[in-house]
Amino acid sequence: MDSVLKAVNRVSQIAALAGDTQVGDGGSLPSLARQLPKIVVVGGQSSGKSSVLEAVVGRDFLPRGTGIVTRRPLELQLETAADPNAREYGEFGHLAGQKIYDFEEIRKEIEAETMRHTQKRGTIVSPVPITLRIVSPLLPALSMVDMPGLTKVPIDGQPKSIVQELENMARDYVKHENVIILAVTPANADLATSDALRLAREVDPTGERTIGVLTKIDIMDPGTNCRDVLEGHSYVLKNGWIGVVNRGQADINSRMSMADARARELAFFHKKADYGGIKNIGTGFLSTELSERLVASVRRQLPNISAFVNKSVMDLQRELEAMGGPAATSRGEMIHLVLTLCRKFETSFAKLIDGGKGGGELILTVFEKRLPDSIEKQPFKKILDVAYVKRVIEEADGIQPHLVAPEAGYRRLLEEALGYLKDPTDKSVEEVFVLLRRMVDNVANSEEVRALKRYPTLRREIVTAAYRALEKFKEETRKMVLIMVEMERNYITAEYFRTIQMGKMPDGKLMYTLDGRPVTEEPEGSPEEKHYKRIINQVSGYVREVCTQLTQTVPKAIVHCMVLQSKDKLLEEMSASVAGDQELALKRLLGEDEALMKRREALTHKLDMLRRAQGELTSVDQQSELTQRLAFSATAQADPSSSPFYAVPEGHQNSDLSSEACHIGLSRRKDLTLREDVRLMCNGEMQTLAQLLKGHKAVVFGVPDCGKVCSEQHVPGFLQRCDDLRNAGVSRVLCVAVSDAAAADAWADKLSLGDGSKIQVVTDPNAAFTRFLGMELAPPGAPGPRSQRYAAVVDDGVLLKVCVDKSPGEAKASSADSIMQVLAAMH
Ligand code: GDP
Ligand code: MG
Repeated sequence: MDSVLKAVNRVSQIAALAGDTQVGDGGSLPSLARQLPKIVVVGGQSSGKSSVLEAVVGRDFLPRGTGIVTRRPLELQLETAADPNAREYGEFGHLAGQKIYDFEEIRKEIEAETMRHTQKRGTIVSPVPITLRIVSPLLPALSMVDMPGLTKVPIDGQPKSIVQELENMARDYVKHENVIILAVTPANADLATSDALRLAREVDPTGERTIGVLTKIDIMDPGTNCRDVLEGHSYVLKNGWIGVVNRGQADINSRMSMADARARELAFFHKKADYGGIKNIGTGFLSTELSERLVASVRRQLPNISAFVNKSVMDLQRELEAMGGPAATSRGEMIHLVLTLCRKFETSFAKLIDGGKGGGELILTVFEKRLPDSIEKQPFKKILDVAYVKRVIEEADGIQPHLVAPEAGYRRLLEEALGYLKDPTDKSVEEVFVLLRRMVDNVANSEEVRALKRYPTLRREIVTAAYRALEKFKEETRKMVLIMVEMERNYITAEYFRTIQMGKMPDGKLMYTLDGRPVTEEPEGSPEEKHYKRIINQVSGYVREVCTQLTQTVPKAIVHCMVLQSKDKLLEEMSASVAGDQELALKRLLGEDEALMKRREALTHKLDMLRRAQGELTSVDQQSELTQRLAFSATAQADPSSSPFYAVPEGHQNSDLSSEACHIGLSRRKDLTLREDVRLMCNGEMQTLAQLLKGHKAVVFGVPDCGKVCSEQHVPGFLQRCDDLRNAGVSRVLCVAVSDAAAADAWADKLSLGDGSKIQVVTDPNAAFTRFLGMELAPPGAPGPRSQRYAAVVDDGVLLKVCVDKSPGEAKASSADSIMQVLAAMH
């Protein structure tokens, strides 16, 4: 088997066993199966889809019958076993590793698994596929999907939505470019109403990847036949139709074997004169056609598949790495992990405090702005009113004129005024606490401690522990700050009274009132007013001093008791308690986020699958590189002077067009005339290949450069044997030159190959024809020959044989003599 196909089949198998299916897993992970070429069977309910698929496989294993029998897509991977005597078996994706040798059992498992799944889902049908791999020495390597049938109206008590559901399911499968659509339509129904054809046309308007299959030809109305359809007259499909006859329900019931069914199908077409001379009939034909198409598709897709796999591997690897490795297991490892994460958290927190924006900077605003502002807003005015002061002093010290200062009154006033400082200083403590708590939240959500995301419990616990620690520091700070204010209120000595009456602080510094006047300023008014105003000034001056002092010392206390403590000891308690935790508690703490755990598992699983696929694909790449190198070295030996660029691609020498040997016919039909876009310049006009080749048995030979070997050996050889060629039935000899028309004409004239000559020189100005044959050597504009030296036999437009010289510098394999031998062998 073709090595590329083999590799892709192994990749499909890897995907199937890993549960990677055409529908993917909902989109969050790359689906490999979706990249792989496959054949999808679509059609109406009971049109015979499962029967067709079974016939191609040649085994009975699918549930068939009337009504909606296939209820989930079945992704089928056929694999050719290397050992010709190997026993065939099937293996389900959902029962990986379990080989089932009895095909009846496979059918039962398909039914049972369909049932299990749809019952759980509570629906009749489901888009979630069953994957099945069948390994047999006798099977072609194919990837096929059996779909539930389309329907126009719900039957059997099916819900209305089923019509749309079935259609969406089928469309989801066939819309991908890598899918070959097998549109199954019963011959005894009207083609115009075929759901299969409608859907195929919708997703594949050019018909490039659609093949029509007509079933139930045996039960058409007597006197009617479908020859018209099969010949492409009544419903045109680009790739044509293939007619088959499968077993009817009665045959299934009577357990007619597959071999008998095939024999009966052959006999049916043989017997019926209606189908005389038609080739595109029978399950055998269908099977070959499908294999060929799949190989072509695989070859086309291979670079894309490789690129997809490589990119996906890289993406998944990156995601996994970002998630971190699997969790620790032993107690020591767990403690280490928790402590490391705690340390990381603390470091980030400390960094945030020190780092300005969003951290330390905010705390600074509390100290520099909010605290002084809020002190200033206190209602000192109220107690510095003459009437009020008079009343307080009279109450405290009596109404007699005082010899010394009214000490008790002073004390009362000061205590009251300084009492106002409790509130703003306490508020500052609270504000800083709130900021610190917010910083804890920010750190918990930061990228720096991304690793914590994996452990939501630990993360929660860390945040709680940090809050708890902050709460504790806050209480300590509050106490401290309160004491500081109280100290100022209470610690007023007699000595002190004397000094403030002088308007100076004990250290001799001049005092100013709250509104900025010197305390010693002589007030105005009556002697009594003056007396009280003097007292007011002095109290105000002292309060101002204390306020200034506290705006400096309170922040220091807050920083010392709260900010620095939290920086140093935020998780101290937690760390200490974790170190004593037992394994169970640690496990709980390190319980990973379930969604994340699942994601990691899925990623690992998928990555493993993709890596294996990558291995397979790389080996194909290397193989093809190796063959290229071998081909090159073979050429080099044959003709040491030839340039390496002229190496004949592997398999082109004397190609017989077998699928293994030549590019041609793999991705395209051997009927050259189907490529209507490829034209050659002949007699001054561009002609289609149909115009040039239809109705002729032709020899087409290509010359690399109209040089010496072309002019002196290749062309003269054909001229010499013109009569022999004619006798062998050849009615046309074309010489293809990749050049512009003028140069080719001049060359033809020189060789006397003008009008009426037995050899017609045609030019391939843009090398399209040469490329189409796989004979191109160098891109347009490159120096040196642009085409291989080759010669081909083309019958009525169909390419039968192409012979290519190992080097364009010799005319051997493609010489007239060699072609004569080919023609002789054909007869
Ligand atoms: P699906 O629903 O499209 O998968 O169709 P099945 O393969 O289950 O076939 C539906 C019914 O049509 C079954 O009873 C088959 O035996 C019958 N059937 C399928 N193909 C043919 C055919 O070519 N000839 C006859 N006579 N019956 C067929
Ligand atoms: Mg079916």
